[in-house]
Amino acid sequence: MATITFLGTSGSVVTKKRMCAGILFEDKLIDVGFGVLTNLLRSGKKLNAIHDVYISHTHSDHIGDFTGLIWAMAMDRRTEPLRVVSSSSTAASLERILDLQSTPQAWVKFDIMFVRPEDVGTKSVTTIHEPENLAYRFQTKQGDLVYIGDTAKSEKISEFAKGCDVLIHEATFLDGQESIAAVTSHSTARDAGNTAKLARARRLVLTHFSPQNEGAEKQYRAQASSVFDGQVIVAKDYQTITV
Ligand SMILES: [Zn+2]
Ligand SMILES: [Zn+2]
Repeated sequence: MATITFLGTSGSVVTKKRMCAGILFEDKLIDVGFGVLTNLLRSGKKLNAIHDVYISHTHSDHIGDFTGLIWAMAMDRRTEPLRVVSSSSTAASLERILDLQSTPQAWVKFDIMFVRPEDVGTKSVTTIHEPENLAYRFQTKQGDLVYIGDTAKSEKISEFAKGCDVLIHEATFLDGQESIAAVTSHSTARDAGNTAKLARARRLVLTHFSPQNEGAEKQYRAQASSVFDGQVIVAKDYQTITV
């Protein structure tokens, strides 16, 4: 069985209850938004258990702690290489950020290998978001996990997520907030429910909640469940589920 731990479930900024985007999936850290490193350490997870870092896109709520993670691994005396999986444009930005934040290469005693998802056999698709955002699909013996990152509602994503066991979909907004969702290329809980329905996913996990909707967990679940018949989970920081 594969374990997924939510290390951050807020969109845009951290709140009292939620850090920004980040998930630990076995030996993979998927997105490293602000606060994810803190939650990773507080949850007792070991940095050297992470072999791959997957990044959806370069908005700071998805990469804010990236340099901090590299420094923490260096302080932890890591020597094993770290693979960073992303689009080529995201990789170029991450390399530049490490450089601009004066991360001393001689002091980091491990190789950071920037690779594309196809290089490591992981399926990906570009979503509707700016800058370029990749959704990823991971295979396990029990079923597939699909992580979207950020997106506006997209039928291409329901195709990509077809038949998955767990669909982790952003739900930044709620009913009545469709116009801001459109302007910012984000989804509502209902959009996520529709995508899960079209994909025939078994379970839908909502995450990346707008801080302005803090405390609206019941509405998130109800609005996604009004269109999707499967199980809907409204993710919380530190929550663990299995595939
Ligand atoms: Zn985001
Ligand atoms: Zn974004």
